[in-house]
Amino acid sequence: MTKFKVKHSLAALAAPFSQPCQPTPVSAPQWLAFNSALATQLRLPEQYWLTDAGLALFSGNALPDWTKPLAHAYAGHQFGHFVPQLGDGRALLLAELEDAHGQLFDIQLKGAGRTPFSRGGDGRAPLGPVLREYLVSEAMQALGVPTTRALAAVLSGDWLQRDTAEPGAIICRVAKSHIRIGSFQYLAAHSDSSQLKTFADYVIQRHYPACLHADNPYLALLEAVISAQAQLIAKWMSLGFIHGVMNTDNMSISGETIDYGPCAFMDAFNPAQVYSFIDKQGRYAWGNQPRIASWNLARFAETLLPLIAEHAAQAVELATGALQGFNSENEAAFLQLMGEKIGLKAATKHDESLIRDLLNLMSANNADFSQTFRLLSQSVSDASTGAAMLFADNNSWQAWCSRWQARLAEQGIATKDVKQQMDACNPALIPRNHQIAKAIELASTEADLSLFNRLHNALQTPFELDDANADLALPPTAEQCIENTFCGT
Ligand code: AMP
Ligand code: MG
Repeated sequence: MTKFKVKHSLAALAAPFSQPCQPTPVSAPQWLAFNSALATQLRLPEQYWLTDAGLALFSGNALPDWTKPLAHAYAGHQFGHFVPQLGDGRALLLAELEDAHGQLFDIQLKGAGRTPFSRGGDGRAPLGPVLREYLVSEAMQALGVPTTRALAAVLSGDWLQRDTAEPGAIICRVAKSHIRIGSFQYLAAHSDSSQLKTFADYVIQRHYPACLHADNPYLALLEAVISAQAQLIAKWMSLGFIHGVMNTDNMSISGETIDYGPCAFMDAFNPAQVYSFIDKQGRYAWGNQPRIASWNLARFAETLLPLIAEHAAQAVELATGALQGFNSENEAAFLQLMGEKIGLKAATKHDESLIRDLLNLMSANNADFSQTFRLLSQSVSDASTGAAMLFADNNSWQAWCSRWQARLAEQGIATKDVKQQMDACNPALIPRNHQIAKAIELASTEADLSLFNRLHNALQTPFELDDANADLALPPTAEQCIENTFCGT
């Protein structure tokens, strides 16, 4: 392993961007999971790999001197309502580690105790949400979606009071940074424009250095974040993923998926699907995600206005122009991804109705999202096989298939190549909500991590499924279906 490189660039900026804060020790830490592939990438010394020193580090009980723990300050719109101070209430940034390519990654403990931003909370995380975040974030990585990662998870040995008593746990999360739209909102609400500029310059350096060469670096930053989010949301949508809490404090500037709370991959396709039991209005429903991302980006743009131009009217005009780019980029990315899912190498505007009609057919027939696309490759040459079994309305299915097969034929690509390309982008396995719930239940009540480990291993190669894991790919039966996914607080 090459050299371990540590930085503290956010700590160097000091207040008001962050506050130093030590973790609160826990009583009896135990290993739950450790990600050696990620540890290798981060060049984390092996002395922390499933060792006592590692347990002390990842539980927050004894931090090595190369850490400089801090809580990051941020604000945010939660379900549309502005909260001027949120911040890391149960998370601590320990350090930034550089990989062999010079890419910097935050390592952060989530659930390590109270911080200056904890408000009424205990600063802790229950086991269930920690296991969910570990599984889903690592699955997202394997599916090719930009995401925070999971480096380690430990049990704390302490019980937490939630609706019932739950075992406490801590996850070590890795991200290109934990800077969010809410980080900028915090500065816009509490600081002067010189601090905002210091922070924006830091973010440009760290995430979008190409913007330094733009005529207007802050407008270029806005455009870069818009583009990253437009691409990210299209990826989520193409996998049937619902984030669940797209508050502005949960939207990362780097364009990574962050904060796996009441998130889920859909089973039966329903564009209005939500899982968060507090989301009564469907604000964060599958089909509403582009609109919400665009709304969040408008909040981001507002914070940058003083930097974009001296005169407010001009700044608004420039920012508005940039925001208008979101829809076209998001729609183009979604069209491309959905086209690939149905075997089209380069989908065009003319293919939009083909894709929309399939989605409508899926929702009318309650077809399982992931199964439909995975089985579709078997229907390329014979409409009566593969995905056909998911559509009770066989006539409509056959009619759609004829149009689709005719369109595929226009490409002049060998059927076996079309099938292969479809199987490479339609996962055979996604982290099914009911399987995650079962893994959490087993771990919490019987200290049994076998299903968690099995799911985690199988999800490392989501485009290939071992026969032995076929059960993990099945949609839930009516009794297994999970209506709500609870937040991790
Ligand atoms: P989240 O819903 O996880 O995005 O959290 C929203 C805000 O609540 C953030 O500022 C968190 O730091 C804070 N928070 C969530 N859970 C806790 C907790 N158990 N203790 C303290 N703060 C928390
Ligand atoms: Mg959050």
